Amino acid sequence: MASARAGALRSPALPALVELIGATRRYGDVVAADEVSLALRPGEFAFLVGPSGAGKTTLLRLINREIRPTSGEIWVDGLPAHALPDRRVAELRRRVGVVFQDYKLLPRLTAVENVAFALQVSELGVSDDEARDRSLDALEAVGLADKADAFPHQLSGGQQQRVAIARAVVSQPPLLIADEPTGNLDLETAWQVMKLLEQISRYGATVLIATHNLEIVRRMQRRVLTLVSGRLVRDQPAGRTGRLAWASS
Ligand code: ADP
Repeated sequence: MASARAGALRSPALPALVELIGATRRYGDVVAADEVSLALRPGEFAFLVGPSGAGKTTLLRLINREIRPTSGEIWVDGLPAHALPDRRVAELRRRVGVVFQDYKLLPRLTAVENVAFALQVSELGVSDDEARDRSLDALEAVGLADKADAFPHQLSGGQQQRVAIARAVVSQPPLLIADEPTGNLDLETAWQVMKLLEQISRYGATVLIATHNLEIVRRMQRRVLTLVSGRLVRDQPAGRTGRLAWASS
């Protein structure tokens, strides 16, 4: 009896952490996002690929509510990014860690100060001591405990990107988005940075990475969303990303 009822008793699937429903964004005649619908589960790791101009950055900016869709819906951790008034944008941004291609570290602050500064902006009321402690923990998690007092110019590109990742996750947002995070790195360093981002998803964060680096995308064997001319043309589940090039399909 118990086993017959097990299916009925199982809790429903977790709601999506990110959901786009017919999200469209136009710039004049250009349709940068064209009726995009997709969902990312909590803790899911996915790549966003496609040729230059396909709309990858636009999609990330829509999710982070830097821009609004022309039409459609964008839900992030239960918040409607498409309809959120300006006064509530900070609420959404606190749920989204962002990593950029060019790191965007503050050059006059040390690694730990860069991370602590972001934490105190995101979580008002955190004391300097607590911010430093938590930032040191975040730097340790990305393998940079020994570089806490280094300035950005004293660090390699890969190390700077690790500091940027520590900064993005220090307040443990449920979503991490990255726009070409390995664009300035050699293949081996890029691989290590991608594995670090994958590890972050194992701790429970949803991770979405826009990248050109198909070599690494192939090796990682994770979910791949392919955009062409603003349209989501393919959604390949993890483990089935053998054929990737958008040009050869
Ligand atoms: P990707 O990140 O895949 O290279 P983008 O999202 O940057 O693509 O761009 C998608 C399309 O939208 C391109 O045609 C681009 O020129 C256009 N676009 C993006 N941002 C703007 C903007 N602020 N103003 C006008 N056109 C834009």
